[in-house]
Amino acid sequence: MATHVPHPVAPDDPPDPPAASEEEFGVWRRPIGSLPTRLGFFVLGVTLCTALVITAISLETIDAFLREKTQESFPVVLERTAAELDTWYAARLEEADRFRRDPVLASYWNDLPLGPELATRARDEIAEQLDRRLAMSDAFEAAFVLDQYGETMLWRGRRVQLSLETLASTHHQALSDADRWEGRGVQLARVRFGDTRTPTLHLLFDLDHLTDILNIHGRLLEGRISIVDRDRRYLASSTADALPEQFELALPEPGQTLEARDASGPEGERLIVSAIALPRHQWTLVIEEEYDRAYSRVVTATRRVLGINLAIVALFALVAYRFAVKMVKPIEELSDAARRISEGEKNVPIPEGGAGDELLVLTRAFSEMTDRVEANARELEDAHRSVERANSELVTRNDDLHRANEVLAQLSVTDGLTGLHNHRHFQDALTREAKRVDRTEEPLSLILVDIDHFKSWNDRLGHAAGDEILRRVAQVMKTLLRSTDLLARYGGEEFALLAPGTNIEGATQLAEKMRTTISETRFFIDPPSEHQRVTVSMGVARYRGDRKRLFSEADRALYRAKASGRDCVVVFDDDIDA
Ligand code: GH3
Ligand code: MG
Ligand code: MG
Repeated sequence: MATHVPHPVAPDDPPDPPAASEEEFGVWRRPIGSLPTRLGFFVLGVTLCTALVITAISLETIDAFLREKTQESFPVVLERTAAELDTWYAARLEEADRFRRDPVLASYWNDLPLGPELATRARDEIAEQLDRRLAMSDAFEAAFVLDQYGETMLWRGRRVQLSLETLASTHHQALSDADRWEGRGVQLARVRFGDTRTPTLHLLFDLDHLTDILNIHGRLLEGRISIVDRDRRYLASSTADALPEQFELALPEPGQTLEARDASGPEGERLIVSAIALPRHQWTLVIEEEYDRAYSRVVTATRRVLGINLAIVALFALVAYRFAVKMVKPIEELSDAARRISEGEKNVPIPEGGAGDELLVLTRAFSEMTDRVEANARELEDAHRSVERANSELVTRNDDLHRANEVLAQLSVTDGLTGLHNHRHFQDALTREAKRVDRTEEPLSLILVDIDHFKSWNDRLGHAAGDEILRRVAQVMKTLLRSTDLLARYGGEEFALLAPGTNIEGATQLAEKMRTTISETRFFIDPPSEHQRVTVSMGVARYRGDRKRLFSEADRALYRAKASGRDCVVVFDDDIDA
């Protein structure tokens, strides 16, 4: 239901530009503070926290599980390797013993320290036999004979330079400590023949043999398995990588095991280390695994779980955002419509609400509201027009009243018959003029006029003809006045003329002029053929500070004029009554 709201401006006003639509801004360019964006961020935050907590818990569990597995697997590998190394060493001692039991070597051995010839023969025989034996040996690479001074009498096989310490550490039927030659670890076995203490036979093997054994077991691990000596130096390792100078942790006591634990490598890398003490030479067998490699499954799982979680988090945030956009859109459209209506735009379409939800209720309410606003606006316009009509009527009536008032005012100061000022207006004017003259000391004169024998006109020609004479006498007098003079009908056939700024002489001349003009005027009254001669008598007085006295003096002068035979002007003087 699209509702249109009327607008108070002219109908051809251009409509306001439409508000920026969602297409213009795009769903993704909503301002940060908008409801959908805030909702999106809120859901993102909540799901992210949840995902991180769940990830942390699951990783902790996996980590603990794998640690347990490691704790179980490391000792097994260590023990097996140690056992194999031991077996290998036992085989070397056995082999050395076979050298000792060799009949050729035994028969020529006692001749070795003898005279040169015999010694030479014995040496040749022993050398040949040593060559044969070395060729048959699995591990020994060199055999040499030392005299009682430790000097080399004979050397077969690989030639190496050995330290005196190594030579000294070798004892009968046992193995020396490891030595290094050209970067390789070597070890000796000393063999004695019969009861003779010297010379002694020494057999040399390469510690690379140990590396082979370590390699077999190292393959089971993600890290390396190594042998370190009592000074914690590395003797052999399952890896070809460069080894650290020293093993960092304290070595376990003979017969003890170092349980798997965390340590840090030379470059700060995290390591899992376990060790077992070997019975021979007080060496130690060490397993070192880089944490990341040991727990590669954990790391992989971590990455996967985190990746999945982040994807889920992003998905949830996106869904929440889209949902919020969908929810907010009709509200925005409604608020946009409300804004346009409030700005005075007309014919604003009200958007349809979503079906069966609160927004529908809101939209309907809004639509009803705009309907009501429309109706109210119409009513308001009607009322406005009526008020305007009433107002113009009122103005007209007011004008009429004003005119009527003016007429009334005029009437109230005008005599109806002659159109001259009436008695009341004359009194007011006299009072006003007297006050003014009191201030300015200008002259002020009064002339009282009375038509002679007027009663007889009435009696002879009738009352209407009398009225006509009154009117004509008034007209004649009017023609002789100055603008400042004020002529009033004072009584029945009596007139009063107030002449401001006129002294007694001026007033007398004016009175005389009026009298002669009237007496010379022929009044043709019904019957028109008969013309009538009308005369007037006048009394003149000047203002001397008392308006009552002024009037009285003019009246006394008029009385004197009547008494003097009428049709004359009498000016008041103080002896007038005499
Ligand atoms: P005098 O010369 O002494 O003034 O004599 P007069 O007749 O004029 O004086 P009087 O006062 O005796 O008479 C005045 C008359 O004027 C009386 C009255 O009937 C008449 N009159 C007064 N007012 C009017 C009026 O408005 N119209 C007419 N037609 N007559 C009027
Ligand atoms: Mg009179
Ligand atoms: Mg008269």
